[in-house]
Amino acid sequence: MLKHNFSAGPCVLPQEVFKKAADAVLNFNDLSILEISHRSKDFVEVMEKARSLALEHLGLTGKGYTALYLGGGASMQFLMVAYNLLENKAAYLDTGTWSAKAIKEAKMFGDVNVVASSKESNYNYIPKDYTVPTDVDYFHFQTNNTIFGTQLHETPDVKVPLVCDMSSDIMSRQRNFDAYDLIYAGAQKNMGPAGATLIVVKDEILGKVSRQIPSMLDYKVHASKDSMFNTPPVFPIYVTMLTLEWLKANGGIDWVETLNKEKAAKIYNEIDNNPLFKGFVTNPEDRSIMNVTFSLHDESLKDRFDTLWKEAGINGLNGHRSVGGYRASIYNALTIDSIDALVATMKELERTA
Ligand SMILES: *Cc1c(COP(=O)(O)O)cnc(C)c1O
Repeated sequence: MLKHNFSAGPCVLPQEVFKKAADAVLNFNDLSILEISHRSKDFVEVMEKARSLALEHLGLTGKGYTALYLGGGASMQFLMVAYNLLENKAAYLDTGTWSAKAIKEAKMFGDVNVVASSKESNYNYIPKDYTVPTDVDYFHFQTNNTIFGTQLHETPDVKVPLVCDMSSDIMSRQRNFDAYDLIYAGAQKNMGPAGATLIVVKDEILGKVSRQIPSMLDYKVHASKDSMFNTPPVFPIYVTMLTLEWLKANGGIDWVETLNKEKAAKIYNEIDNNPLFKGFVTNPEDRSIMNVTFSLHDESLKDRFDTLWKEAGINGLNGHRSVGGYRASIYNALTIDSIDALVATMKELERTA
């Protein structure tokens, strides 16, 4: 039996994507996808499809944005963003471990104004009471905090360019994406395997800083080469393309958002109604529909619960070490069946505790 994979990333992907990816390893137009030239017509088509599908899903086609797939993970974007966009001062919102890492990198390039932080309470809520100065080069934040299970549900209403790490909720829900100037996301949280990072950048914001930028770290260089300045991560991009095709064939972000909300509601409902469990996020408004963090009131039930979910074929439920407890990552490809399996173990614990 295949396991129910609640892993935070790399994550569950659709079975049909795994099958197609496996087929392409063995035979992709009479070669293996692993041995083809990235300059071949066949791969150029894959790259163009992956780039155009990303823009299409986000509703950004023809609106002056370029999609790139680069290596280095989302962590590389922490410094690339600042390298390319930070001339004097930038504003950052500190909502978790990944925000803190982004802030650390940005400080090497200019003044960083941290407008608000929920660090003092281990990031268990999203700060909302802050103002972003109007003289900053951009405002950077994370939409979804993978480790803590919080999510910004509204796009901040500010007048400066918005730069956003959407690694763990990209393609999971609608937002007014055209309000953003740069969006980045490591593929491995919701879109594909590890190894490729999607960057969607508004063309007009590039080329404004005075510093010299090394070619490999320059968005303009990658954009001018259609994301083929050097050998791109061929296989991760291929699998990401397959996942974006799967999303499109099923009805796109509108379809998956409805499904994701239904999945999240089922687990939160169980957390709220089962007397053995409590949620980590203090304000229900800030709960993530991608990463659900919770714990037991009574730690002495831990072994019992762990046995129950492992026996049910559940994988990846342990919380991040900085939060403890449990984290159910319920990305796009996780099915309602898997949610039901988890909820059943929670009910079983209550019945037998
Ligand atoms: C995982 C994650 C990152 C880091 O991604 P890498 O690809 O491992 O560098 C950054 N931001 C968020 C929100 C994440 O969830």
